[in-house]
Amino acid sequence: MKTLISSDVRLLANLIQEGKVVIFPTETVYGIGASTKNEAACLRVYEIKGRPKDNPLIAHFPSIEAIEESCVLGNLGRKLLEKFSPGPLTLILPKKDKSLFPKELDTLAVRIPKNPVIREWIRLTGGPVSAPSANLSGRPSLTKLTDVVRYFEGKVDGILIEEEPSFGIESTVVSLVGEHPTLLRPGSIESEELKTLLPDLVVPNLFETLPVLSVSHVPLSPGTKYKHYAPSAQVILASRDEFIHSLEVGFDPKDTAWIGFSIADKLGKGNLFSETKEAVAKSKEGLSKFDHFSLVSTNEEYASKLYAFFEACDLSKIQTIICETPKLGRGWEGLRNRLEKASRRN
Ligand code: AMP
Ligand code: MG
Repeated sequence: MKTLISSDVRLLANLIQEGKVVIFPTETVYGIGASTKNEAACLRVYEIKGRPKDNPLIAHFPSIEAIEESCVLGNLGRKLLEKFSPGPLTLILPKKDKSLFPKELDTLAVRIPKNPVIREWIRLTGGPVSAPSANLSGRPSLTKLTDVVRYFEGKVDGILIEEEPSFGIESTVVSLVGEHPTLLRPGSIESEELKTLLPDLVVPNLFETLPVLSVSHVPLSPGTKYKHYAPSAQVILASRDEFIHSLEVGFDPKDTAWIGFSIADKLGKGNLFSETKEAVAKSKEGLSKFDHFSLVSTNEEYASKLYAFFEACDLSKIQTIICETPKLGRGWEGLRNRLEKASRRN
């Protein structure tokens, strides 16, 4: 199949109208989309991704008004969208238009992407555009055009070139159907912010997290498959101390990667800083093409780099990725959730 890779929104909107499948970037991750009004086209998205049929898609809309034509928005829904949209918030709403995909559900997940060019593209398709993340099911979502092209050229009808994702993790999902509003998936818009409008928001198990895996106690089993957001390499969550320690002993830099916070705060504590620098330099030996050591300064920066880092690690056949746990506070929720899922075995 020939894939049209272009920044021409009109051409790529025509493809959606013709029932074709197009990949497009949003502020969260890349999406793989088809017309919400075309069941066969939406089903092709599932086939291309290998996505389980019972996991519904998010419908992407150009505006609040367009959402209102398809769903029962209500006061609360409107307030939430006015505050957080366009942006990385997905709402589950009762459907008005029963012909929209998936027909068997009477609810629809809706979201308005931040980039005005993408909203214009959706408008030109006649909208909405149903799209899950553009990745093979179970693997990390993609945030770089080069990765999207590598996986999907020849498999989809079009790839829209626009601004690359900046948030880097999938949208926050909130259900407004049922007795209480419920956080279904944490993301960049966090429960504390949502609670300003939704004081009775149900936030399931956010702090009942998996124990942080101690790098010194985890048996390594390279190539193990994971369920969600997971690279082929084994992901290990490490506390600050374990992260620093793992740079010094126990892991072969040739097949290990590290992502965590700047090590500058270790300055002045013995000679750890110089030792760490040496470890970093060493870790780069033998891998000419790719940086498998990534330092960030905030949770937000961590989230924006994470999936591309995972992809780069798999390309370089890295076996183990040691991820420092995110800092409590802003940006913690979504990032922590994705890291835990990535580190989980089947
Ligand atoms: P993805 O597109 O892969 O980022 O995932 C979309 C998320 O939205 C998944 O967690 C879906 O289960 C969820 N979702 C989509 N539609 C609905 C719906 N009608 N009700 C509840 N969750 C939904
Ligand atoms: Mg996904």
